[in-house]
Amino acid sequence: MGEDSGIADRIRTVRARVAAAARDAGRSPADVAIVAVAKTHGAAAVEAALGAGQLVFGENRVQEAQAKYPSLRQRHPDLRLHLIGPLQSNKVKLALELFDVIHTLDRPKLAAALAGLRSSSPSLPALYVQVNTGLEPQKSGIAPADAVAFVRHCVDALGLPVVGLMCIPPVDVDPIPHFALLRELGRESGLGRLSMGMSDDFEAAVRLGATEVRVGSAIFGGRAGAQEAGPVPPAQ
Ligand SMILES: *Cc1c(COP(=O)(O)O)cnc(C)c1O
Repeated sequence: MGEDSGIADRIRTVRARVAAAARDAGRSPADVAIVAVAKTHGAAAVEAALGAGQLVFGENRVQEAQAKYPSLRQRHPDLRLHLIGPLQSNKVKLALELFDVIHTLDRPKLAAALAGLRSSSPSLPALYVQVNTGLEPQKSGIAPADAVAFVRHCVDALGLPVVGLMCIPPVDVDPIPHFALLRELGRESGLGRLSMGMSDDFEAAVRLGATEVRVGSAIFGGRAGAQEAGPVPPAQ
């Protein structure tokens, strides 16, 4: 109960901060969607957020989403689920059943796998191309220099529903140049949507044109950090 109202309060605070940053930049707050990143938090936390009118959620692992959302979706048909973590080629089919939006189209092989399922799947999720703006070897994503050509390939040659670009700037650096680069690449690609900004920097991202901010800990509280890349605790 106390935790539920904590989540609701934090959602209202994040909404107010997003709206203020949008107005600062001469944008309409309605043009920025908050994706509430619920990874590692159980279905009860998602329910609490739904109680505060939050309908859009993000998860970074396909299997965690599979365990958590089918029953939530039955109770809340308006819930929308975004995949914000890496998608292995052997999980593409399952991901298409679970997610409404995929933020992590990060390699040609995944684009080909999605295109291969286009005819058998009723409609593909909206897709964002992930750009590795920091050229970090351990991070997935298309290199900035290749991003525009990759988008063209996905849209023109493969017919994929690419709507925008996504980035995860390196930790411990100023994210602003990364957001600005993503915005410029979006412009060159002719794409209208930008998925950028997390708990620590979403206001800066909104000022630079984010249409989706992915906010986890500022809404749901901290995660057991070491577990993020490790095994997922069973959903309750
Ligand atoms: C976990 C995660 C987020 C949310 O991070 P917070 O700092 O908790 O807001 C956003 N984007 C991606 C890709 C993530 O994995």
